Amino acid sequence: MSSATKTQVGIIGGGPSGLLLSQLLHLRGIETIVLEKHSREYVLGRIRAGVLEHGFAALMREAQAGDRMDREGQIHEGFYIAHDGIRQRVDLKALTGGNTVIVYGQTELTRDLYEGRDRLGGVVIHNAEDVQPHDIDTSRPYVTYRQGDETARIDCNFVIGCDGFHGVSRQSIPKDGIRTFERVYPFGWLGVLSRARPVSPELIYAKHERGFALCSLRSPTLSRYYIQVPLTDTVDDWSDEQFFDELRRRLPGDVSEAMITGPSIEKSIAPLRSFVVEPMRYGNLFLAGDAAHIVPPTGARGLNSAASDIYYLYHALVDHYTKRDDSGLENYSRRALTRVWKGQRFSWWMTTLLHRFPDNSPFDQRLQETDLAYLFSSQRALASLAENYVGLPF
Ligand SMILES: Cc1cc2nc3c(=O)[nH]c(=O)nc-3n(C[C@H](O)[C@H](O)[C@H](O)COP(=O)(O)OP(=O)(O)OC[C@H]3O[C@@H](n4cnc5c(N)ncnc54)[C@H](O)[C@@H]3O)c2cc1C
Repeated sequence: MSSATKTQVGIIGGGPSGLLLSQLLHLRGIETIVLEKHSREYVLGRIRAGVLEHGFAALMREAQAGDRMDREGQIHEGFYIAHDGIRQRVDLKALTGGNTVIVYGQTELTRDLYEGRDRLGGVVIHNAEDVQPHDIDTSRPYVTYRQGDETARIDCNFVIGCDGFHGVSRQSIPKDGIRTFERVYPFGWLGVLSRARPVSPELIYAKHERGFALCSLRSPTLSRYYIQVPLTDTVDDWSDEQFFDELRRRLPGDVSEAMITGPSIEKSIAPLRSFVVEPMRYGNLFLAGDAAHIVPPTGARGLNSAASDIYYLYHALVDHYTKRDDSGLENYSRRALTRVWKGQRFSWWMTTLLHRFPDNSPFDQRLQETDLAYLFSSQRALASLAENYVGLPF
């Protein structure tokens, strides 16, 4: 059995990037179909990012999916860097002239986008197997997929690859059509989501000789904690008790004493990687979000970099359909990459500043210590950190 459908924009991947783009385009009268490999429950079960820039929040509101984020998201005006037994605050609001970030979980944001798609009658096809873009270097690209015994074909003007790092879109581009840039870090983050009051109302990034740690949160009753672990570790190597003991060791005394722990709801290890593909377009296939770039989560840039891609792509597609102006599409890759690389630089710098690198020489260690000492001795250095953390303009 096979079927064929037409749409204007075929979107591969029903994560935040794909859903946001589809919702924004729909509201401007542009047809989309989203193909998602997994079930909705599976997508909503993934615990990932939690710190949003205001540029992202503005897009959520424009997509008519920002009401709950505005009600339940928490505005954070600063965060702490802990080192050598002390905590120093980075006052984002003061350092940036009034900018802040919003703490709101990616899971909740994705749920809001799905509800937005349902409300408008948007088409999101779940459990789409063997999704494959075709003829992407022509003006008549199409995407095929399978659901059970049925294969289907979607003809479209553009294919947008929002299918994450392991997706099929980037892999469909011939090897000589793109260039990749990559750094793999020799450690990962073991993350625990715990139903307990967060130890601090603001995030604490901790540098420690035993390794990095982060105290984050999703809500006033949901804590998200991370510790740096070797890549050889598995989740089974860490009981809740061992995890919290190690976390406490890496935090200043007053913080570890104040910590209330609860059973873990989710526990996972994420390897740390920097990755960029250039260009972010091949013919009529456009890549966005994690399909085109990955950052280590240290600077909270991953989801926010995806949002700026969607901003550029959304406006480029609207200009194409409403003004017959293709300059946005032609410039998409260059504009998106300019901002992506700034996010890469910042994430690499934060990671380098705060982690323990197993092969660091004593010279490297002194440089790392000096980088941190310089940061807290210079308002200009702190302002640069804050400007990047709240998000550079789109
Ligand atoms: C474990 C983990 C922790 C993270 N923590 C943070 C954090 O703390 N802060 C931060 O800023 N960022 C974090 N990130 C990064 C952030 O979650 C991503 O940047 C964000 O999810 C990117 O959204 P996306 O829609 O581009 O990609 P994804 O969220 O990866 O969505 C891609 C979608 O495409 C689907 N898909 C994949 N292959 C196919 C296919 N062949 N066909 C159809 N569909 C397909 C997937 O199922 C998925 O739903 C984390 C990422 C991971 C993996």
